[in-house]
Amino acid sequence: ERALAYAKERGRNQISQYGAAHEREAMLETHLPYAAKRGELFLVYQPKVDLTSDTVMGVEALIRWKHPLLGVIPPNEFIPLAEKRGLICEITQWVIETAAKQGKLWQDFGLSGFKISVNLSPYSLKHAQIVEQVPALLQQAHFPPQDFILEVTETGLIENVEKGRAVLNGLRAKGIQIAMDDFGVGFSSLSYLRNLPISILKVDRSFTARIDQDEKDAMIVQTIVQLAKSMQFHIVVEGVETAEQVQVLRQMGSLIAQGYFFSKPLASGEITDWLLERKKPA
Ligand code: C2E
Ligand code: MG
Ligand code: MG
Ligand code: MG
Repeated sequence: ERALAYAKERGRNQISQYGAAHEREAMLETHLPYAAKRGELFLVYQPKVDLTSDTVMGVEALIRWKHPLLGVIPPNEFIPLAEKRGLICEITQWVIETAAKQGKLWQDFGLSGFKISVNLSPYSLKHAQIVEQVPALLQQAHFPPQDFILEVTETGLIENVEKGRAVLNGLRAKGIQIAMDDFGVGFSSLSYLRNLPISILKVDRSFTARIDQDEKDAMIVQTIVQLAKSMQFHIVVEGVETAEQVQVLRQMGSLIAQGYFFSKPLASGEITDWLLERKKPA
């Protein structure tokens, strides 16, 4: 009898947990269309460090939403909603515009050749107009397309490779660089490398986590690095958290590293301080 009561109680809790999650999602979905207009979206920036020269190559812009009641919402929670509700193009435009303006400020500070990367939703690849739109946004911000990187994922390309490739070729022709994000965890990775106008490969952080402890993980990264080098891609290793990982990576050749070891993603003011601090001669 007690077991039954327990089961009932548990059932109720599960329902209310589900209910709460559902309510949260419903609230986010209702409020998302107004988030940009209300100024609730903001970008954080995470540096990418060249391990050979120990210099900062640039930063990746990552979106956040400061919901008035629920606090800061991570992109993995609201980007899928934006895609579902047809709001992603508007958000992407805002991200590119904001990141390019910020990038221009940094370049004016004397961080020349400083690159900005932005994540592109697979949905955006379905819209051929972004081939014109993105360069126009960069031009308005006076940010050079050569210093601008769009990060795409393999999963985003599966649905329509042909269209995706045409769009990426168009963007590449305007000088924008394309990075393959989260490399190694999706499908058909190798054929994408052959057929898409990629110049940067980002090794997924699931490989980085145990690189200093697990020989297999280290060998996978080493192999990706060699492959990328022979194809003349730049390599960014994501999710670098410890000095031990950096040490292993240094032995693998010239790499760019990104992760909490160097810095968490920071708001524009904080990252500006971080960049200026690092630029100071020792
Ligand atoms: P991503 O592009 O692969 O970004 C890297 C994610 O790993 C970021 O999470 C970052 O905060 C996190 N990260 C960085 N270094 C470390 C580390 O050392 N350890 C660990 N554990 N994590 C690390 P975030 O910001 O939550 O973004 C998650 C994903 O959301 C991104 O993955 C990207 O796919 C997507 N995203 C972010 N911003 C945008 C955006 O503006 N537009 C679109 N469409 N997607 C975005
Ligand atoms: Mg990314
Ligand atoms: Mg990634
Ligand atoms: Mg990711």
